[in-house]
Amino acid sequence: MFRAMLWSILLTSLLVPGSALAQSKLSRAVATSDHMQPAIPRPEQDGEAARKLADFEARTGRKPNILIFIIDDMGWGDLGAYGGGEAIGAATPNIDQLAAEGLKLTSTYAQYTCTPTRAALNTGRLPVRTGLIRPILAGDNVTVNPWEGEVSLPKILSDHGYYTMLVGKWHVGEIEGMRPHDIGFDEFYGYYRAQKEYIQRFDEHRYGDLVLDKDKRDRYDSIGADDTLTYGLKDGTTQVVEKIISIKDMAEGDGKLRDYTVKRIGELAKGDKPFFIEHAFMKVHADDWPSEKFKGASASKYPYKDAVVEVDAYIGDIVRALDEAGELENTLIFVTSDNGPQLDSWPDSGYTPFRGAKGTTWEGGVRVPGVAYWKGMIKPGRVSDGLFDLMDLFNTSVHLAGGDEEIPTDRYIDGIDQTSFLLADDGQSKRENVYMWLGAQFTAMRMREYKIHTKVIMPDASNLWIDQATLNDVALAPWVFNLYVDPREQYAVGHRMNAWQASLGAEMKAHVATFRKYPPKDIGLGN
Ligand code: CA
Repeated sequence: MFRAMLWSILLTSLLVPGSALAQSKLSRAVATSDHMQPAIPRPEQDGEAARKLADFEARTGRKPNILIFIIDDMGWGDLGAYGGGEAIGAATPNIDQLAAEGLKLTSTYAQYTCTPTRAALNTGRLPVRTGLIRPILAGDNVTVNPWEGEVSLPKILSDHGYYTMLVGKWHVGEIEGMRPHDIGFDEFYGYYRAQKEYIQRFDEHRYGDLVLDKDKRDRYDSIGADDTLTYGLKDGTTQVVEKIISIKDMAEGDGKLRDYTVKRIGELAKGDKPFFIEHAFMKVHADDWPSEKFKGASASKYPYKDAVVEVDAYIGDIVRALDEAGELENTLIFVTSDNGPQLDSWPDSGYTPFRGAKGTTWEGGVRVPGVAYWKGMIKPGRVSDGLFDLMDLFNTSVHLAGGDEEIPTDRYIDGIDQTSFLLADDGQSKRENVYMWLGAQFTAMRMREYKIHTKVIMPDASNLWIDQATLNDVALAPWVFNLYVDPREQYAVGHRMNAWQASLGAEMKAHVATFRKYPPKDIGLGN
């Protein structure tokens, strides 16, 4: 009762009356239209970035390539540039070099699991809006193709003269109409699911109850989940490159993806189109089995760590391929992970210094590495704690392609164009808030260095943040942490330290208000 009253007082005092979609008075962000996430105005850096881009186009006569590396389930703390690397038995010199010679973002945010992040990045919209709130599993009754009516990033770029390609893991639907080459990518070469889902069919040691029991195995196979490396083209061409029939097939999967991207970069560089490549690794998602070449390659000699070294080496190879093709200075490169480490599979999992893990909206679940590199365009050696949501890659990529007017106006877009944050020499983030949803539940928000939770995920057994955890309401007060003082979210300060922090609830309400005009989509996943 008291809490409800408190919230209603906050709302009344902080929201601008008469406007359903207004930000609270706490916010530096300014709304330019009711369907776009308000952004912090930064006109000077916008001007600097626009001049840099105009110079680039005058110099090269073209639009830039965009290459996004998505590593599966890598932790914020795995990379040397983020304090891991050699210190934890798996050096990452290639990514560290991109960070040192580019912009290292310390507050990049993903969604809480694989599918939502990939859907958000490719639509610029929160999963709760598109309905892609969790992975689609065998047996799910998907009532609506979530991609129907969505305007994807590769579609906009493809319509704007780009060649668009997804190499690697998709995980946002494998039936016709939902495949990468159905939703806007010109080309797909990769896998539909996470590597554990392939490997469990063959790993006698870990999944003997399934693999060694013929009846269970046959019934599992009869579900008919895809078990191939697939090649697809926008014209509908879909071919099986290879059927996965052993652990080794999957262990060598990322090597095949690396070879493909390297080969295609060489070919695409000879063409006249700029390209957009999403290279989505299968590793380092459990279950990690070392490829022959990288077995024991890490100082730790442990399969997860060998996988980190393998992924890092492939990023180095692909960046070198860009350089050799004469495209390095024409390409924005972004390196990230799609969610925090999956501690449920520990010790086959990554490292985060933060609380929580994949499957939660604690920092450990959603805060991921984010490295932006563009030779000659991003000043080397930059580090920023400005907020960056992976959805911002949607708006930023569209802007770089010159396609701003293609961003739909009939739905809410949560991404923000962060071109000037990345390109201006002293660029600052234009994002004021990161909203954190756990499926259909709005659980937390970051604003500046503050984090507020209205629901919290608590594990019932150490590390089991997905398989044995509960989602709890907070009591009288939302849990509020100052992440600069308490990065591990261990001792909520609530309203005791700073009354301003207690007011963050108003910002959450302002976010919820955006759903009045733009209701969430239900595709049958429990939205
Ligand atoms: Ca993932």
